[in-house]
Amino acid sequence: MSGREHIKINAGNYQRGKLAGRKPTSAQLCKHRDGQLYIHIQLKNEVPDPQPTKKVIGVDFGRRDIAVTSNGDSWSGEKLTKTRDKYSKTRASLQKKASTRTRSSRRRCRQVLVRLSGRERRFQSWVNHNISRTIIQSAKSEQALVAIENLTGIRERTNQKPRNKIERRRSNSWAFYQLRIFLEYKGLRDGVEVIAVPPAYTSQTCNRCLHIGLRSEKKFKCGNCELSCDADLNGAKMIALLGLSVSQPGGSNCLCCSLSTDSSGLLKAYTVPQGQCR
Ligand SMILES: [Zn+2]
Repeated sequence: MSGREHIKINAGNYQRGKLAGRKPTSAQLCKHRDGQLYIHIQLKNEVPDPQPTKKVIGVDFGRRDIAVTSNGDSWSGEKLTKTRDKYSKTRASLQKKASTRTRSSRRRCRQVLVRLSGRERRFQSWVNHNISRTIIQSAKSEQALVAIENLTGIRERTNQKPRNKIERRRSNSWAFYQLRIFLEYKGLRDGVEVIAVPPAYTSQTCNRCLHIGLRSEKKFKCGNCELSCDADLNGAKMIALLGLSVSQPGGSNCLCCSLSTDSSGLLKAYTVPQGQCR
């Protein structure tokens, strides 16, 4: 209250290394859930300008596979779902014990719950860091830009069909939003442009002839040109096509589109695939 206080920073070597030789101009003092006070220090970096490019890597997010790229890379969600189910089970059993058992064991269960609380979240962000790093690195080496689905509304879409409680938990808790944030900032940092395209019809449109085809659980079949392939791969290729039409308007694919920038600064495209716009 009465002027400035000088407080020594208690930081590890990693943080000291990051701060060495820098002059941060802003910071936030935050009280975390564990009751401790932390200081968040902001550092500004110059980012490289993205190179103009004709190559696009499309990324389709899903639940069976967390992400599939138009290059054919995919990250299976199976092992993740298993790990997350394990955490959920443990949590449920501890929560039950925390409300029914004796006083001392209730307290112990609550302590264990606190200890486990960050673990699933850390696991999840570790996975997301790996996926986003791989995608951005391959985009950088191929000098491509990255097109992703604009994910607002993924919960509504993956929850459209009636689903049981387990399925709902699985699809709601997967952190696609975090994956998108990671892709955006790693892209900015490495000079790879990241574009969000509208997700409508990407999974039902044929990437070869742009007609609406049939999508079953895993397979995509086009009635017009007889294309038959993995549904997620088709989605990723479709997203890449949309991204290409955005980066090169008026290309050979008749995809009507316009661009705008959302609050986060991410380029957003509004497109209508051929077939719907005519
Ligand atoms: Zn087709």
